Amino acid sequence: MLGRTHAVGSLALAHAALIGYTAYANRNDVAVEGGNYLEVFGLSIGEPLSFTEYGLMVGVVSCFILILFNIGSGRLRLLQLVTMIGGMGTLYLVAEGTYPLTITLMLLFFALGTILPDIDSETSTLGRYVTPISRAIPHRTITHTIWIVLLAAGVAWYTESVYLLALALGYTLHIVEDSFSKQGIRWFYPVPKWRRKRGSYRSFVYETGGFGENVVFQAAVVLHVVCAGYIIWSSFGLRTMALM
Ligand SMILES: [Zn+2]
Repeated sequence: MLGRTHAVGSLALAHAALIGYTAYANRNDVAVEGGNYLEVFGLSIGEPLSFTEYGLMVGVVSCFILILFNIGSGRLRLLQLVTMIGGMGTLYLVAEGTYPLTITLMLLFFALGTILPDIDSETSTLGRYVTPISRAIPHRTITHTIWIVLLAAGVAWYTESVYLLALALGYTLHIVEDSFSKQGIRWFYPVPKWRRKRGSYRSFVYETGGFGENVVFQAAVVLHVVCAGYIIWSSFGLRTMALM
């Protein structure tokens, strides 16, 4: 997949998961006092966000994606940067507690994790800035292995950092997504790939930059819109469904 598909696609999954879990954790019939939150390294995932907090979160993450993928030029880029930093500052000041800002920053780390493995490609979003690294590592080798995933998860666990955990999660999703591509990946590189028998097939494969990938990208955009639409709809008085 191209970087933008990885980032936008994985963020769509994170977006839906966050909204879905928050709605679940704050259902009226959840008996647990104060909600049914998931504790991760001291962070209560699923705490409700106000409409403003959600809007600021989406704004910050969107600006980060636009900056990351060089969309827009000159003044527009400056505006994106100012909006992103301003959004984070506003979240810090107006949000109830630190959760809204923390979850927003986690999404930025997550997005970064979804494009990090392709640092082994000179033409990738990050790889073009660090050509000594991207030229030295053959594409889809060591950066696309289970070893890096284990290392990232281990460091996140050891440091008890929700940000590193988010980064590791994004990184893992990238590799899983690549494993569905025609070229595939070698999970246990440099251990040679186990050869499939002729005639065996995988039910879903796509070509990088091809039609299938485009479908995934468009579907991700639709999922983002549906998530945002749900929040807007649920903020209009339909409080039984709302929950953010
Ligand atoms: Zn990749």
